[in-house]
Amino acid sequence: MRVVVIGGGAAGFFAAIAAAKANPDVQVTLLEASQQPLSKVRISGGGRCNVTHACFDPKRLVQNYPRGSKALLGAFSRFQATDTIAWFANRGVKLKTEADGRMFPVTDNSETIVNCLMTTASSLGVELHSRAPVVAVKRILEQERAAYFEISLKSGETLKCDVCLLATGSNPIGYKISQELGHQVESPVPSLFTFNIKDEHLRQLAGVSVKSARLRLSLQGKSTLEQTGPLLITHWGLSGPAVLKLSAWGARILNETHYQATLLINWLPDLNQEEVREELLKVKAEWAFKPMLLHRGADLPHRLWQYLLMRIGITTEDRWSGLSNKALNQLVQELTQGKYLISGKGVFKEEFVTCGGINLKEVNFKTMESRLVPGLYFAGEILDIDGVTGGFNFQSAWTTAYLAGSAIGESNL
Ligand SMILES: Cc1cc2nc3c(=O)[nH]c(=O)nc-3n(C[C@H](O)[C@H](O)[C@H](O)COP(=O)(O)OP(=O)(O)OC[C@H]3O[C@@H](n4cnc5c(N)ncnc54)[C@H](O)[C@@H]3O)c2cc1C
Repeated sequence: MRVVVIGGGAAGFFAAIAAAKANPDVQVTLLEASQQPLSKVRISGGGRCNVTHACFDPKRLVQNYPRGSKALLGAFSRFQATDTIAWFANRGVKLKTEADGRMFPVTDNSETIVNCLMTTASSLGVELHSRAPVVAVKRILEQERAAYFEISLKSGETLKCDVCLLATGSNPIGYKISQELGHQVESPVPSLFTFNIKDEHLRQLAGVSVKSARLRLSLQGKSTLEQTGPLLITHWGLSGPAVLKLSAWGARILNETHYQATLLINWLPDLNQEEVREELLKVKAEWAFKPMLLHRGADLPHRLWQYLLMRIGITTEDRWSGLSNKALNQLVQELTQGKYLISGKGVFKEEFVTCGGINLKEVNFKTMESRLVPGLYFAGEILDIDGVTGGFNFQSAWTTAYLAGSAIGESNL
């Protein structure tokens, strides 16, 4: 049986290896458009490659996928983070877990992962062709013969195969080929981005962070999304895990609103409004004659506290004793529901991913075979699956690729 895998990224390599391993008789060819395969693995996680996440319960793992959670539940019961760890360990690559659950190779170097995938594929006889961009795939049905695929390369060359696996990531050509074969593609839009906020005073706090803030996104009154977590102020606006998660869950709707939305920030998510008020009144009583800017009423970085006071018009002259009830209410509001206008999206350099791709209803998630075109398989980011930041995107690529490759190797074509 001849198998062609299109796309030499994480999913393409993992699937090619799984197919060759499951059946040594299959002849696997891996076609990669660029000169260097696995380029995203190389730059991933800031050059360290966040391979997976230490979350070992499929039900909890799927909660990290704004798109694809339902389809992935069964898939993760067959290949999940523990299997990824074991897969790499069996090939001499040890992973370590960081405090937030992200898992990296102990070498802290993505080349370790690249080398492991390259040497494993080569040892199993996977034939890798770089600089081999595919421009079209046709399924040829002949009366007396079984169907086969004809793969056309940009060079003009054509290849024939019994099975074709599309692992072209978010490349538009992969979507086009899938559509020509009859598949529906959910429109691709970016996920995992930072929020631009036009506020000079906020931007001057670049580098200031809080361990936990609760963010609520209000989208033209349509819906409200909420995330709690670390928040970082940047030169452009806001970043950090809470923002990235919110960008992932809101990826499609934020795209529809052209990245214009209102963000409500609760800087003190562990306290309710009444508790915040009580804390402020305690400080008012204790530090009555001290300037409010110098004596903080909340456990926040000093510069952030001063900025929040500035937003409600409190100046260096104002002392705690002069805090009126009206100003106290405004301060409580500012600390727990401060309003910020998102005016665009920025780039999170450590990881980004595309929301959208092949409609999941058209794929059998036991085998990753197309429900429309027999012999056509999908794996990785080409599917309408994406996760929040933290190693979840590679995990879905490993899982879908492993299932696809194993099913191909075990099929009786
Ligand atoms: C900067 C950055 C950092 C990231 N860091 C992390 C991280 O640390 N952890 C994590 O979980 N996720 C991370 N991600 C997301 C992760 O890289 C992707 O989810 C993952 O690479 C998807 O794998 P894939 O094989 O499906 O697609 P890709 O990695 O995009 O691979 C697709 C391959 O197909 C090739 N191709 C495309 N079209 C054709 C064609 N027509 N013919 C032949 N070949 C073709 C491409 O050249 C490419 O090599 C990061 C993403 C970016 C951009």
